[in-house]
Amino acid sequence: TKLAASAYQSTAPSSAYSTKPGANGNYTVTLIPGDGIGPEIAESVKSIFSAAKAPIQWEEVDVTPTLVNGKTAIPADAIASVKKNTVALKGPLATPIGKGHVSLNLTLRRTFGLFANVRPCVSIKGYKTAYDDVNTVLIRENTEGEYSGIEHELVPGVVQSIKLITYQASERVARYAFHYASEHGRNKVTAVHKATVMKMSDGMFLEACRNVAKDYPNVVYDEDLLDRVCLRVVQDPTPYADTVMVMPNLYGDILSDMCAGLIGGLGLTPSGNIGKDASIFEAVHGSAPDIAGKGLANPTALLLSSLMMLRHMNLFKHADNIENAIFKTIADGKAITGDLGGKASTSQYTEGIISRI
Ligand code: NAD
Repeated sequence: TKLAASAYQSTAPSSAYSTKPGANGNYTVTLIPGDGIGPEIAESVKSIFSAAKAPIQWEEVDVTPTLVNGKTAIPADAIASVKKNTVALKGPLATPIGKGHVSLNLTLRRTFGLFANVRPCVSIKGYKTAYDDVNTVLIRENTEGEYSGIEHELVPGVVQSIKLITYQASERVARYAFHYASEHGRNKVTAVHKATVMKMSDGMFLEACRNVAKDYPNVVYDEDLLDRVCLRVVQDPTPYADTVMVMPNLYGDILSDMCAGLIGGLGLTPSGNIGKDASIFEAVHGSAPDIAGKGLANPTALLLSSLMMLRHMNLFKHADNIENAIFKTIADGKAITGDLGGKASTSQYTEGIISRI
């Protein structure tokens, strides 16, 4: 059966990638509130879930970096919690620029082998932007590429950053993209690349995609250059509504923010980091230090991520109820946050959603 009811799907119910949470009525989920606006938007999700009677028990953990053998690490009890629960909802984590500790986001993705980052970007009914029919799904390789973290200064003034691409990781994310397309009623997978320039690394990524495509004769496969896709999507996103775009790490990071811009910004775009042993759901945006602590943050992106999580756990009814309440609140327009042109605080918007559940 195809899962077309909402664009904010993860992989449940039949997926080989589902971590089968919710067994024996146990819906304990690790909650990482995160930095900056993280705690404010996590609070909003918690109160909406409790109003919707979603049967989730939150196990809240702190991921403030600790030093283990001189290296920054995520506290062991946070790791143990995600391992045990296999599902987590995560707020944004700030990463210092140019120096300081390694990205905890990358550490989490590596620790749990979260190889695919699913980023749906869909026009919100009732919220007017240049296009009202954006419906893109982008799947980003999540563990390597330019984000492998291998950098060194060769001689003063010369730095080398390694872009690492393996056939195994490329094949794994390509397979997930085809699987996602066939489960969600999308008839095409487009591999997005720059193999014209990076002939060997992106070339290998494409080779993996082409090989996986042979196993999915009912899904059309094509390839397009990253720059051309950027141009085409901003000129007219409509043709991408039946496509799953799959690409190396850095390209997906950038292209997904561009897609977010088409529907009203980063306050609205969710994501799921999918692995074989655990899955972590989080907003596409970061910790928004410019508005943190002011009650101005839009919790929708984290909320929609939490709906992907609910569907991942087979809790479709609760997800649908909350999704309807969100869209009614936005369409009504009276209590929306500043990023969407409104004047409501995070908690006023949250109350608006709760009153519609
Ligand atoms: P950002 O996404 O935090 O913010 C970009 C802009 O969007 C800001 O003007 C911000 O106010 C606005 N914005 C973002 N989310 C919003 C929301 N929910 N409601 C209203 N406005 C919102 O990007 P940044 O400023 O480049 O990064 C800040 C920090 O976040 C950095 O340390 C970065 O490393 C980190 N980051 C973390 C993640 C993650 O945890 N997955 C992702 C991206 C960035």
